[in-house]
Amino acid sequence: MLEVSHLSKAYQNNVILQDIQLSLAKNQVLSILGKSGSGKTTLLKILAGLEYPDEGDVKVDGQSVLKTPPHRRKIVYLYQESLLFPHLNVFENVAFGLKLQKQPKKRIQEKTNQLLDALGLGDQAHKMPHQISGGQKQRVSFGRALIIEPQLLLLDEPFGSLDPGTREQMQDLLKQMIAQYQITGMFVTHDIKEAMLMGNQIALMQNGQLRTFQSLNEFIEDKQTGAKAEIEFWKQYISP
Ligand code: ADP
Repeated sequence: MLEVSHLSKAYQNNVILQDIQLSLAKNQVLSILGKSGSGKTTLLKILAGLEYPDEGDVKVDGQSVLKTPPHRRKIVYLYQESLLFPHLNVFENVAFGLKLQKQPKKRIQEKTNQLLDALGLGDQAHKMPHQISGGQKQRVSFGRALIIEPQLLLLDEPFGSLDPGTREQMQDLLKQMIAQYQITGMFVTHDIKEAMLMGNQIALMQNGQLRTFQSLNEFIEDKQTGAKAEIEFWKQYISP
């Protein structure tokens, strides 16, 4: 579905991405781990069309999308504070993409209500963004993204600002939605556990390069990922 080849990007002689290769099949979710500043956001922005690479290509279903403007790509980029329209209520925020597509009113009603229910927002439809919690706002932004059935969903540290309990709930909900809506996606995080939970493939961004692991086991066994160190850390607190 997605094919990234020889992608490179520098900002003022500062090389951020170097010869990135990546392919992602339909209905797969790739988690990308990496330190802050390692270029994860830059990669996602290039895929979404918000940045342009110096070299390389991005193909979706065999066609290069580099010259396609962001709003025509059917690739949605969501980040931590993805903003809602403050003057539109929850229903209108979620329905927005379908209205832009000028879909019939009845279809907009049905599809939006169905998605609001699936997101556990059925009883929040008429509230304004300032009247709902952080976790609920995030559900609304997922709704806005999912309603247009994107070919590729790019999630950039989406749960970074949530408290641990809400974060866990959102991880479960997002996993359910990914399965239900057959999403192909990329999930950026610096949390090892979250990367393992959300993706069925894992890659590590380091020194401008993206290394994709063949299996979770290979990922855990590799010293550079930090997974093994984390497991060892928790083991010392578990009584034999
Ligand atoms: P990550 O998402 O892994 O934290 P980013 O892709 O946001 O990393 O940033 C990678 C590096 O590129 C950082 O050093 C950042 O300062 C730099 N950078 C990002 N965007 C720009 C820009 N528009 N101009 C110059 N430097 C940038």
